[in-house]
Amino acid sequence: MNGVYIHIPFCKSKCPYCDFYSYRYNDEQREKYVDAIIDEITTNRRASEFLKKPFSADTLYLGGGTPSVLTGEQLYKIIDTAKKEYHLPPDAEITVECNPGSDIESLIPYFKKAGVNRISLGMQSAVTKERQQLGRSADKERIRKVINLLEENGINNISLDIMLGVPSQTNESLEESLQFAVGCRVKHISAYILKIEEGTFFHKNINRYTFPDENTVCDFYYHCSEFLETNGYSHYEISNFALPGFESRHNTKYWKLTNYLGIGAAAHSYIDGKRFYFESDSEKFINGTEAVFDGNGGDYEEYIMLRLRLKEGFPLSELSRIYGEKHVKKIIKKAPLFKEQGFVNFDGENISLTDKGFLLSNNIIAELI
Ligand code: SF4
Repeated sequence: MNGVYIHIPFCKSKCPYCDFYSYRYNDEQREKYVDAIIDEITTNRRASEFLKKPFSADTLYLGGGTPSVLTGEQLYKIIDTAKKEYHLPPDAEITVECNPGSDIESLIPYFKKAGVNRISLGMQSAVTKERQQLGRSADKERIRKVINLLEENGINNISLDIMLGVPSQTNESLEESLQFAVGCRVKHISAYILKIEEGTFFHKNINRYTFPDENTVCDFYYHCSEFLETNGYSHYEISNFALPGFESRHNTKYWKLTNYLGIGAAAHSYIDGKRFYFESDSEKFINGTEAVFDGNGGDYEEYIMLRLRLKEGFPLSELSRIYGEKHVKKIIKKAPLFKEQGFVNFDGENISLTDKGFLLSNNIIAELI
């Protein structure tokens, strides 16, 4: 079944590491943008070239930016319209990314009314000093309060983000973040390694910060994986951990090359082997810009690249069925050496990356394809 992603590009301020399409907004622009989103959901006018049939989905994901800077009415309108237009079933996974510093209290009644059942909270670190350096305001007590409030209102599927490699991070401070996340009994944890992207504040001011070195970050990653696995979280994707049954259904569609429709500025889509996107410009989106074709997707390289992000990897029989036997032969030739070096699990039929392989995934995947 398909997924739908809706991009909300608004934030209260810009975090120093962020290279997503997001910016400070004003109320008028926010209103117009929401109207443009609703219009596109209702008509699929701009994506119609790629959507040849009525589109149904079983996951809806509002990401950003910060969707929780929308008003409750705006969020409800978007979700309710998408539910109707994309025929979401009663058990659809509906996720909203939230900043714990937002006025979540005022949004909860609308979340309940709209059937939101999953919240992804941008925590990044439970350590106040680290959070401040990352431009995040809410403290640990606020995050815990938001989690409790959501749970009291029946939204139990909560994900927390943790960032590895942030300025001044130590084994002890990482341990504090991990203990906090596990202590909150959240169902899902995303642990990302910080990448200093060009154009960000961190990139421009790199000498003002002390970042942990590469080996230390690798140790953080191993520790994070071991700690969370010991506490019952499965390391089901390079950067994602979940209690049994709480893997992100929506994000798994990206890694399994399942169709998804992206709506809003900077949103990308993959439908029946074709990729298209909307430009990173909300004014253009408001003014009716067309979707841009981004070429064909889903070739065997992409399949291997995406499937190896998942702990389960993929069976060679599936690769052969979809893309032909010649690619299987290449893998059979190279996999045993990577297995010997501890980078892959390979039993002759299924191939997947180990934790060590996850850290070097780009190199291993490049070798395999
Ligand atoms: S809240 Fe998220 S999207 Fe907004 S600036 Fe920070 S990292 Fe970027």
